[in-house]
Amino acid sequence: MAEGGISSFWGPVTSTTECCEKNYAYSSYIAEFHNTISNIPCIVLALVGLINALRQRFEKRFSVLHISNMILAIGSMIFHATLQRVQQQSDETPMVWEMLLYMYILYSPDWHYRSTMPIFLFLYGVVFAAVHSVDASAKRLAKMYVATLLIGTLCWLFDRIFCKEISSWPINPQGHALWHVFMGFNSYLANTFLMFCRARQRGWSPKVVHFMGFLPYVKIEKPKAQ
Ligand SMILES: [Zn+2]
Repeated sequence: MAEGGISSFWGPVTSTTECCEKNYAYSSYIAEFHNTISNIPCIVLALVGLINALRQRFEKRFSVLHISNMILAIGSMIFHATLQRVQQQSDETPMVWEMLLYMYILYSPDWHYRSTMPIFLFLYGVVFAAVHSVDASAKRLAKMYVATLLIGTLCWLFDRIFCKEISSWPINPQGHALWHVFMGFNSYLANTFLMFCRARQRGWSPKVVHFMGFLPYVKIEKPKAQ
């Protein structure tokens, strides 16, 4: 749909979910401008996580995890840029894969629990990790994870529920785009937390340190024999 005199490169909108952002407001190639570019932080953070995982020789599954975050964000960019039903797949399918991957990474050391409900396992894992992590900085990671999830979800809800009101404001706060940014940090924190837990399991004495005094990441020290 052409709005504001700019034509749409991708043709009419065919996706089923539409966000509050005005379509084709800035470019005829990008349907939802803010919702598209707001995925970039997620890609950058995933890249930071990937480099950290590779450099310290974490298990391959962590590289897969960070790469899957990147695929997720790129899929989301493609979807919000085109708003086509086919591309909607590229936004939703990786999300399901990612959930499966999280299950695998959290529980692969305990496959004998295979028959138990995955959801139960997931909750158990989160609670277990939160309660058992004596390390204060790891606890802070978990808290930041919950906080970004909550704030991000609020932004998403706000954008959906109050779209009519927001549309008459002079500036759209772009709740859906903010949701992307918060979820970018959220998935980075989730992966960092997983890396911490796994490293402790393996006896690699993990520490949470901060990049430029701000971005947490896991530093490990593998025993010489390994
Ligand atoms: Zn989105």
